[in-house]
Amino acid sequence: MKSKKKLGAHISIAGGVQQAPLNAAAIGASAFGMFVKNQRQWKTGLLSDESIRVFIERCAQYGFSSAHIVAHDSYLINLGHPESSGLAKSRHALLDEVKRCQQLGIQLINIHPGSHLRLMQIDRCLRRIAASLNHILGKTHSVKILLENTAGQGSNLGYEFEQLAEIISQVEDSSRIGVCLDTCHAFAAGYDFRDQASYDSTWKQFDRIIGRGRLCALHLNDAKSAFNSRVDRHAAIGQGFLGIKAFSLLMNDPLLDGLPMILETPNSQHWREEIRLLYELQRGSYD
Ligand SMILES: [Zn+2]
Ligand SMILES: [Zn+2]
Repeated sequence: MKSKKKLGAHISIAGGVQQAPLNAAAIGASAFGMFVKNQRQWKTGLLSDESIRVFIERCAQYGFSSAHIVAHDSYLINLGHPESSGLAKSRHALLDEVKRCQQLGIQLINIHPGSHLRLMQIDRCLRRIAASLNHILGKTHSVKILLENTAGQGSNLGYEFEQLAEIISQVEDSSRIGVCLDTCHAFAAGYDFRDQASYDSTWKQFDRIIGRGRLCALHLNDAKSAFNSRVDRHAAIGQGFLGIKAFSLLMNDPLLDGLPMILETPNSQHWREEIRLLYELQRGSYD
């Protein structure tokens, strides 16, 4: 029987975006994450018609549906930037990335909400993030923006479900907003998944505060940092403080069927093996 879980990893686009579906297929993925431009530069060239055509063609060829491809915004973007020039640059950059998603037929882009850089109150920064999203959603169509929960390291916001809910409540067209849950970040921010009771209670909180229907993707990472440490350090599946039991619970949860589950674990050489291990955690339905 074919697994209903859609597993993959955050795939390299070295050599062009059209390499991503090939790289994903090579590790046995049925979903993947990717940047849509060089993530460490503000400005990069336009996508060529050829790379767009080949990307779309290869996704179809290898059976990657747009529901299982999640773009990731570049690390420079801060939609809650306390200074106007940094804010304008960030909004412009994400707008460009969402438009790239439209060109590539990608329907989901995952973002880190934003950081106050210790120059702004949390509430004001959350309002600013929502205003940035309204600006970008107003100038684009069809692509859904997923807010990723953070570990709360430094001044990064989005480490409490309440903060994500607050941003969403201030977005005018919230039908185009979803959430991507990163297991390492959640654990580092004090949300536990290590046994059935804590697993159930974390999802219950998620449902009460954000709403289960918002969940569009997951980042599967074990944690090198301790529970509630607010430190963002990913570990290989089963080799961190979160542990293999948490991933077994995730892989056997029917509520996560069909959602892209993307590894961002440290060693890309091990992704194929990690994906295989995760499928093996599924009771009886491994294919
Ligand atoms: Zn991320
Ligand atoms: Zn992540």
